[in-house]
Amino acid sequence: MSTMTHCYECGTKLIPRELEGEGIIPYCPHCQAYRFPIFSTAMSTTLLSPDRKKALLIQQYGRNRNVLVAGYVNKGENAEHAVVREVQEEVGLKVVQMAFVKSTYFAPSNTLMLHFLTVVEDDDLSHMTAEVDKAQWYPLEQAKEAVLTPSLAQRFLFTALQKLERGEIVPVDVNTENLWPVE
Ligand SMILES: [Zn+2]
Repeated sequence: MSTMTHCYECGTKLIPRELEGEGIIPYCPHCQAYRFPIFSTAMSTTLLSPDRKKALLIQQYGRNRNVLVAGYVNKGENAEHAVVREVQEEVGLKVVQMAFVKSTYFAPSNTLMLHFLTVVEDDDLSHMTAEVDKAQWYPLEQAKEAVLTPSLAQRFLFTALQKLERGEIVPVDVNTENLWPVE
């Protein structure tokens, strides 16, 4: 990620300035404001069948490679809502349980990736949308072999399944509280 050199509001050259508790942060003397680095936020999910014995891998954009359902978090939307929305939009499935797994900053797209494990209501793939070329359920061990390697999707999938197996994450019911509406 390149370091921001000028203010994104007014174009003034930024100067390094101490911010208590944060260290040295770029500061705009014209706006009199600290300018923290800007990055995007996205989510991806290890998506499990209702019996939690199968994981869903998808192919997109004409590429013959298996990845996970993923998408950007909209401004004003919380990440949990983005997960439910993207799963619905891409493969037409309803998320009924979820757990946060891990986050990773992905430099090539300047994006903070938030990974969730989700369980869907049913495994019916007949409502897939045009955003996805192909979606297929795999028994968990086969999913680990079929996912694109090496990839961030692979690392997330392995981490999510390992944490689930060890009981380090527990998917909880999706409800209106964690789907707090889009502002
Ligand atoms: Zn400024």
